[in-house]
Amino acid sequence: MGTTAGTPPLPKFALPDNLVTAAIRPGDPAYEGVRHTYTRSGSPAAVIRARHHQDVADALAHARSAQVPVTARSGGHGISGRSTNDGGLVIDLSRLNTVEVLDSRSGLVRVGAGARWGDVAATLAPHGLGLSSGDTGDVGVGGLATAGGIGLMSRLHGLTIDHMRAAELVLADGSVVRTDAAHEPDLFWAVRGAGANFGVATAFEFQAEPVRDVTVAVTVYDAADAAALLTRWGAAVEAAPRALTSFLTLIAGRSGKAVAQVMTVYAGSDAAQVRSALAPVLSAGPVLRNQAFVTPYHELLPAGHEPQRAQQQLTVSRSGLLDHITLPAAEGMTALMKAAGMVQLRAVGAAVNDTPPTATAYSHRTQNFSLMAATVPALLKDLDQGWERLHPHLNGLYLSFETRTGRQQLEEAFPGPVLDRLITLKARYDPDHLFDNNFALPSVPYSH
Ligand SMILES: Cc1cc2nc3c(=O)[nH]c(=O)nc-3n(C[C@H](O)[C@H](O)[C@H](O)COP(=O)(O)OP(=O)(O)OC[C@H]3O[C@@H](n4cnc5c(N)ncnc54)[C@H](O)[C@@H]3O)c2cc1C
Repeated sequence: MGTTAGTPPLPKFALPDNLVTAAIRPGDPAYEGVRHTYTRSGSPAAVIRARHHQDVADALAHARSAQVPVTARSGGHGISGRSTNDGGLVIDLSRLNTVEVLDSRSGLVRVGAGARWGDVAATLAPHGLGLSSGDTGDVGVGGLATAGGIGLMSRLHGLTIDHMRAAELVLADGSVVRTDAAHEPDLFWAVRGAGANFGVATAFEFQAEPVRDVTVAVTVYDAADAAALLTRWGAAVEAAPRALTSFLTLIAGRSGKAVAQVMTVYAGSDAAQVRSALAPVLSAGPVLRNQAFVTPYHELLPAGHEPQRAQQQLTVSRSGLLDHITLPAAEGMTALMKAAGMVQLRAVGAAVNDTPPTATAYSHRTQNFSLMAATVPALLKDLDQGWERLHPHLNGLYLSFETRTGRQQLEEAFPGPVLDRLITLKARYDPDHLFDNNFALPSVPYSH
């Protein structure tokens, strides 16, 4: 931030000595590179680039005493842009990005919250290991692993949180905890789905899976009859072997003709198995282009580490889950795409639904598809009208793809007893609601 000649520089936001060396503040040359996220511009009073737990604890204590907002940031790829703020502190975890293989035989790995999933995949690959995380290598570990993690092998390996074995967090009172199934198990349950409400996660341990080459089909379908295409694609995906996971994006193409861009990943490279698994998906509709190739999994997830400058224009999004893609649901999604521009479906189901709904705070274990619709703010009204029509066909919500955070969204993300249990735990772990920037929990249960 420059100053015009003759204007005295603004006084820097006062920080205690122990935070100054980790802080980037307005006026510092590095500030422009850390103030924004992928979807939102921000003007924090200081970004603390944490080097260890103590920096996190000191930043929390200072935010509390200065009475300014505080937010954690891992990869800055939160779709709602909640990892920056105006006038508060951002705790940037990007320096806590170590990826270590603790035991290559069992697959136990330790990952810093500030690592990007692309770097995780690249580090695990030489060990023949991998973790299904998401479709984008630049997404941060901390944001995804505290919410769910719907990845390109989700039907085979489940959600990312299903592989979590331990988490290290700095709590609101500055204490550092390592939580796992035996230590603070309630907290471990809450972190896996509602983590941003409970502390700043600094590292995780995961059980990685043996992962080598995958076969990828990138297919563009003519979606003139989008509803028929969606229902057939949905049925084919549900019937497919677990090794197959497919993500579909439905858009109004440049010429006004709707197309569906589909990425289907088969975890394996046996040609006969791949052909037989892919055939029903490929015949879901008229194929305009198709390219299939075998690749090491990690090459699907490069992490470019581009500077974040609110470059994503589709900044409003709606999220839902579907048990099945019925014709009325497919018609609703088609209308939504026409009104708002973009609809994305990610396959969940299969291994995701092997985990009991009570095992993690992400409790949606019957659905087969995650849906996101996103648009530019100018089309918000159209998005919401289309969403209203589709809503009766949805069952639950994945919080990472939703930019609203009202009561209805909370109740859909955390149905019934899940929300009640989270509210009870919030009172135990964050009684002053320091961590309220991502699907904030109310202080008392809603009256049902
Ligand atoms: C291009 C793109 C593709 C995506 N694809 C997928 C996908 O395929 N599957 C999927 O499941 N998700 C996907 N997502 C959603 C993504 O998982 C979430 O947006 C996730 O929160 C991003 O993580 P981050 O660390 O980069 O986010 P950040 O912006 O750093 O943080 C997001 C939120 O999490 C909180 N948070 C971040 N780190 C921590 C921490 N260490 N401790 C506590 N709270 C924390 C922040 O305060 C903020 O509220 C995608 C997002 C984008 C932008």
